Amino acid sequence: MKNTKIICTKCNKVYPADILQDRCDDCHEPLEVEIVKKGKIRESNFLGQTVLERYADFFPYFKEVDDVSMREGFTPLQESKKLAQEMGIAKLYFKNESTNPTWSFKDRGTLTGVLHAIKIGYKKIATVSSGNMAASVAAYGAKSGLKTYVFVSSQIPAEKINPIAIYNPILVTVEGRYDLIQRESLRLCKKYGIYMINSDAPFRVEGYKTLAYEVCEQTNFDVPDYVLVPNSSGGHIRGIEKGFREFKECGLIKKVPRMVCVQAAGCSPVYNAFITRADQVERIENPHTLAHGIENTLPLSGNQVLRMLKWNKGFCVSVTDDEIIDAQATLASTGLFLQPESAASLAAVKKLKHEKYFRGDEKVVCVLTGSGLKYTAAFEHHKLTHYTCKLDKLDDFLGSQQ
Ligand SMILES: *Cc1c(COP(=O)(O)O)cnc(C)c1O
Ligand SMILES: [Zn+2]
Repeated sequence: MKNTKIICTKCNKVYPADILQDRCDDCHEPLEVEIVKKGKIRESNFLGQTVLERYADFFPYFKEVDDVSMREGFTPLQESKKLAQEMGIAKLYFKNESTNPTWSFKDRGTLTGVLHAIKIGYKKIATVSSGNMAASVAAYGAKSGLKTYVFVSSQIPAEKINPIAIYNPILVTVEGRYDLIQRESLRLCKKYGIYMINSDAPFRVEGYKTLAYEVCEQTNFDVPDYVLVPNSSGGHIRGIEKGFREFKECGLIKKVPRMVCVQAAGCSPVYNAFITRADQVERIENPHTLAHGIENTLPLSGNQVLRMLKWNKGFCVSVTDDEIIDAQATLASTGLFLQPESAASLAAVKKLKHEKYFRGDEKVVCVLTGSGLKYTAAFEHHKLTHYTCKLDKLDDFLGSQQ
């Protein structure tokens, strides 16, 4: 930890890694752990490895393996030849993050966030979230025996509370505006010596690198041209881009894919800034989308995502709720049931096809961020049907369905 530096993404000011610091004191922009320039994959039987063991060279600050991992990562990269053909591209892959321990990609970053908290001596952790991050931090807090505080807005739907409560954290629903809850809980965590694992905390973003490493291996190092990531705070897309950049720096791949930041049209601060060539995101006043996991009115890493898209030659796409629901149904037609947030990535591919963006030889990865079962209210937006039948009529019914 002593030799690791954390660097401001805007002004390059350097901070030590053995303290809890998320943002630059001078410019208030997010910090990032310095890039790894030398490393290789520790090949071994991956069934017996954790992601941090396989990619140990890329996590030089975690020397000993602590008992925190829940075997996150190593998620499937599922190809759809049928949809690739429909989209008019060479290859279409789905990186299915719903197979993580708490059914979303957040676990990759919670692992590294919790490890950092333990490394620098914290016994208490916390998060502010309304969804997947809350469940993930609660689960890892339980597993590693840390006292865990989870703050959620009192507005969150009841179906989201018990899946957090089951891990038995100190769970508080707080009345008040979400960004004010965030600010106040951050202040109180400092006061009480609690490590707050934010959505774009430097050591959370580090964990997200592993998704990129896996995609490199799963495509035999013939990396895709585009990686589409549903974006909220921007922590996830930053981590994935950094992972590819490190593998390129280490000579493991030849290019970094172009990153595509996907947002919901009803709340798209990064997209808005991108299309107006602004270098700062601006707060969205009246957000409305059913993809609550990417409904973020002022993303913590928004400005840094804009800077990253510039050097990466990436771009933004925004999709409507109708397009998201349509894509959720399309995913289900390939056997995948994901959250509306995740479906936004496929909705963006459909939009690019519609706008005749593709030439035909592209290889595209959609990151599917979390499980469909996390938000069952989405069922209402689909025309779902089933039959009812008396037992003695079942034979007739099946006969009529042949
Ligand atoms: C957290 C989350 C996102 C957004 O990730 P950020 O790192 O905040 O950009 C997208 N989809 C799902 C399902 C999530 O849980
Ligand atoms: Zn700075």
